[in-house]
Amino acid sequence: MKITHLSVVTLDYTVSDDAGEVLDTTEGREPLVYLQGSGFLVPGLESALYDREEGDSFELTVPAMDAYGEYEESLVQDVPGELFDGMEVAEGDTFVADTDDGHRPVTIVEVSEDFVKVDANHPLAGMDLHFKVTVQGVRAATAEEIAHGHVHGDDEGCGHHHHHAHGEGCCGGHGHDDDDHECCGGKGHAHDDDDAHECCGGHGGCKH
Ligand code: ZN
Repeated sequence: MKITHLSVVTLDYTVSDDAGEVLDTTEGREPLVYLQGSGFLVPGLESALYDREEGDSFELTVPAMDAYGEYEESLVQDVPGELFDGMEVAEGDTFVADTDDGHRPVTIVEVSEDFVKVDANHPLAGMDLHFKVTVQGVRAATAEEIAHGHVHGDDEGCGHHHHHAHGEGCCGGHGHDDDDHECCGGKGHAHDDDDAHECCGGHGGCKH
């Protein structure tokens, strides 16, 4: 069957930057399973998947504006150090901040005595992304999946182990050497347990 709105799609993919460096890939792990039309994937990739079917392979360049957005200087701000009261902060640390746009990963770019400079751009903002994609499977979503806006596993229902918890989109390959999930959890972050991974999966997340 072809991919339509609300298809559950199983994908293998590799995404690279302009220099050919691999940012994220399903190679060597489980493929990604997501709900088409849920906004789980970056917009440029999701829209390119309509009408594809099982077995299709293709390459696609998604410009930054259809991926994680252009890099915006206005998202780099100095905030008072008191806001980090009691926390050890260092350049390169990432944490999740509550903003008007919801939870966003924020990177600390400079720490001085009086302020902390933070960058709320997505780590992949401003980057054109080069995808190699193979559609491994297509099925219709269940009513429950449609109601939740995400895919459920074969037998687990809506627990904390959705497939999309493994979609480490924002984490893959940009310098987190100690913990792949650091960009999502970490300092000052209120999520509990596995929910902390959900910001990695792209634009959707668990909408309960
Ligand atoms: Zn659910």
